[in-house]
Amino acid sequence: MTNTPLSADVLVIGWGLAGLVAAGEALDAGRRVILVDQEPRTNLGGQAWWSFGGLFFIDSPEQRRMGIRDSLALATQDWFGTASFDRPEDHWPRRWAEAYLQFAAGEKRAWLRERGVGFFPVVGWAERGGYGALGPGNSVPRFHITWGTGPGVVAPFAAAVEQGEREGRITILPRHRVTALITTDGAVTGARGMVLESSAAARGVESSRHAIGDFEISAGATIVSSGGIGGNHDLVRAAWPASLGVPPEHMLTGVPAYVDGSMHAVSESAGARLINGDRMWHYVEGITNWDPVWPSHGIRILPGPSSLWLDATGKRLPVPLFPGFDTLGTLAHLRGTGYDHSWFVTSRQIVEKEFALSGSEQNPDLTGKDVGLLVKSRLAKGPTGPVQAFLDEGEDFIVENDLESLLEQMQRHPGGETLDIDHVRREVVARDLEMENEFTKDAQIGMLRSMRGYRGDKLIRTAAPHRLQDPAAGPLVAVKLHVLTRKSLGGINTDLDGRALGPDGEPIPGLYAAGEASGFGGGGMHGYRALEGTFLGGCLFSGRQAGRAAAR
Ligand SMILES: Cc1cc2nc3c(=O)[nH]c(=O)nc-3n(C[C@H](O)[C@H](O)[C@H](O)COP(=O)(O)OP(=O)(O)OC[C@H]3O[C@@H](n4cnc5c(N)ncnc54)[C@H](O)[C@@H]3O)c2cc1C
Repeated sequence: MTNTPLSADVLVIGWGLAGLVAAGEALDAGRRVILVDQEPRTNLGGQAWWSFGGLFFIDSPEQRRMGIRDSLALATQDWFGTASFDRPEDHWPRRWAEAYLQFAAGEKRAWLRERGVGFFPVVGWAERGGYGALGPGNSVPRFHITWGTGPGVVAPFAAAVEQGEREGRITILPRHRVTALITTDGAVTGARGMVLESSAAARGVESSRHAIGDFEISAGATIVSSGGIGGNHDLVRAAWPASLGVPPEHMLTGVPAYVDGSMHAVSESAGARLINGDRMWHYVEGITNWDPVWPSHGIRILPGPSSLWLDATGKRLPVPLFPGFDTLGTLAHLRGTGYDHSWFVTSRQIVEKEFALSGSEQNPDLTGKDVGLLVKSRLAKGPTGPVQAFLDEGEDFIVENDLESLLEQMQRHPGGETLDIDHVRREVVARDLEMENEFTKDAQIGMLRSMRGYRGDKLIRTAAPHRLQDPAAGPLVAVKLHVLTRKSLGGINTDLDGRALGPDGEPIPGLYAAGEASGFGGGGMHGYRALEGTFLGGCLFSGRQAGRAAAR
C-alpha cells in the first residue's frame, strides 16, 4: 500500500540531536518541515538522549573557575595533534575542525545557555594524551557535563520541534524507514521508503522492521541526519582499518540497534561521496550491561587514571596507555595482542572515586538534576548506585579481599585462562612497592600525582594514591574489559553549509548531511581520534549549519 505522497520545503531523515537541531533551524526560517525516523516516537532525540551529555568548550567560565587556563590556540594544537589529518579528502574535515573550534571557543556555550542548558561546575579531563605537545590529547580539562546529561541537551531542541508540530509547521513521522533518495535531473528531491508496523518498544529497545506500506515525500531540500554505523557490527567489521589489526570477534554495542548505518549506502546511491569510513571511535573499557536495553548492550567506564591495566596475558599496557589517556592508541595496542579483552586490576576505593559510567541512565543524580543525590553519591563514601549494581551484578567484575583470591578468580573467569598469573602478581606487587615513597620511576604513578594538582580531579575523579593491596582501600577488584562500538568518525563529505558533495567535489543539489552521518561535519572533522565531548557539539554545529543552509 502506498500512502498519499507528502511534500515539504525541508525533509529531515533521523530525529537524533543533529536532526532536531536542523529541523528547528528550518522551522525558525519559516520553512515547512517533515521529520521522519524509523523508530517509534519514544526514541525522539536518538543517541543523544542516552548520552552522558559531555560537551567540549574552550576557555569556558567553568574552566576558569576551576583554575584552568585554556585558549583557542591550545585547543587547536590539541585537536590537530589528535586528528592527524593526512589524506587529500581531509580538505573539508579540516575546515570543519577549524570552524567547530571557533564555535566551541565562541558562541556554543551562550547559544546553549539561551536555551536553558546548564553545566556541572567540575570540568572533566578526558583523553589526557601523555605524548609530546604535538601529540594527541587534551592539554587541559574540557569535558563539561550537561546538567541533566543527554536528556538535558536534547530537551530544548525537542521542545522547539514539538512546538512547531503543535502549530502545524512540522510533521513528525515515526516508523518511516527511508530506503532511497529520489533524484530528479541530478538533484535530490525527496525520499521514499517503508512504513513499519507500529511498535510499543520502549526507548532504546530494538523494534521490528516489518513493513506495512510504502511512502514517498518530495522536498526542496533533504537533510540526512541518520547517525553512524556503531550498532551494525557487520558494517563496523567491514570498515575496520588495517592499522587496528583484525576486528575483534567479540564486541559489545554502545549504541541502540537503530544506529544501523543504512542511510550511508542510500546516500551513496544518490551520488554522495562517503569518506574516512575506516575512522571509528570505539572504546576499550566496555563492560557487559547486567540490565541490557539493546542487543549486546555494553557500558563504557570513563576511567580515572589509577587502575592497573593489563592485557589478556597479564602484561601491563605500555606507557602512556593508562586509563583515560589514549583510546585509539590503546585499541591499536590491544588488537596487536591477539585477544579481544583486557583487565583492570584495581581497588574498591579507586572504583568508588574513578569509575564514571557513560550514559544518562547510569547517572541518575546528574540526569535527574538531583543535588542531594549528587552530593551523597559523588562526595560521600561508597560508589554510586549504578556502579554498586555493576559490582554486585556485573558479569565482568571480580571482588576479593586478598590478591591470591583475586588472581584465582581471574584465572577461573572466562578469558582468564590466558593470564600468566605469576606475572599479574608481580605487576601488582611492583606497583605497590613504587607507591610507597614520594619518588617513583612508574610513569602512571607520576602522572597520577601530578593530576591531583587539578582541583577537579582531586575532588571527584582521582583516588588518593594508595597501594592496591592496602586493606583500607579494599577489597581488590578485577574488571574484564571489552571493545565497545560507538562512534563513526567518517561519513558523508560535506562543505561548511552541510551540502553533500559528490565524487567530483561538487554539491549535489538538494542534499545535505549533519551529525554522525557526516562524520560530525565534512565527512570526518575529528580525523583519526577525538578529544571527547565533541560529538554532541558536532551534532549541534553541523545540524545548525545544514538546517540554516537547507532553509535558504
Ligand atoms: C551511551 C552514550 C553516551 C554518549 N556520551 C556522549 C558524550 O558524553 N558526549 C558526546 O559528545 N557524545 C556522546 N555520545 C555520542 C552522541 O550521543 C552521538 O554521537 C550523537 O548523539 C549522534 O547523533 P545523530 O543525530 O548524528 O544520530 P542518532 O542519534 O544516531 O540519530 C539518528 C536517527 O536516524 C534514524 N535513522 C537511521 N537510519 C534511518 C533510515 N534509513 N530511515 C529513517 N530513520 C533512520 C535512527 O533511527 C536515529 O533515530 C554518546 C553516545 C551514547 C550512545
